[in-house]
Amino acid sequence: MNLILLGPPGSGKGTQAKLIVEKYGIPQISTGDMLREAVAKGTELGKKAKEYMDKGQLVPDEVVIGIVKERLKQPDCDKGFILDGFPRTIAQAEALDKMLEELGKKIDAVINIQVPEEEVVKRIVNRRSCRNCGAVYHLIYKPPKEEGKCDKCGGELYQRDDDKEDTVRARYQVYREQTEPLIDYYQKKGLLYNIDGTKSIDDVFKDIEAILEKIKG
Ligand SMILES: [Zn+2]
Repeated sequence: MNLILLGPPGSGKGTQAKLIVEKYGIPQISTGDMLREAVAKGTELGKKAKEYMDKGQLVPDEVVIGIVKERLKQPDCDKGFILDGFPRTIAQAEALDKMLEELGKKIDAVINIQVPEEEVVKRIVNRRSCRNCGAVYHLIYKPPKEEGKCDKCGGELYQRDDDKEDTVRARYQVYREQTEPLIDYYQKKGLLYNIDGTKSIDDVFKDIEAILEKIKG
């Protein structure tokens, strides 16, 4: 079962990916992790990627695609995989199709977790992090026992820059602009499954399971 997972920051995509990994025993492949791994292992492509990363530049498509291909060849991907953070562009999606064809594989489903901007903002701007131990709270869903103080260590709670409203809205817009062409691309191929990401974690997972059971046949 070869899957692509789409969803804006704050959609719970990471949580759902973990649940799919646990239930179906297929690896989650995130581009960020893969790049770090390739660099750590010192592979040919890892070395190339490192050159760009050291300069603070974006790693070019051909390098990212090469690293994805190396990863998909590994035996733990035989039963399937979940791609997370890749593809991001139509060019990458087309390159992915080509590489999967070469490997005798194909994408079975693209799971698109949809959460409206206002809901994402509500989820993220209410996050507070502990300056001392990094524990994360949520003013509505997981408030600390004492306002502004970490339950675990008593440290001061603060709002990370990434969690501020302007940043969240900007990231949401970037995500939408990037992803809309991809959604269209996979819709035309009949591979797109939209999921209502505003439901609870359990209910979202039930909806994903229903799709996966169907495509497993
Ligand atoms: Zn703390």
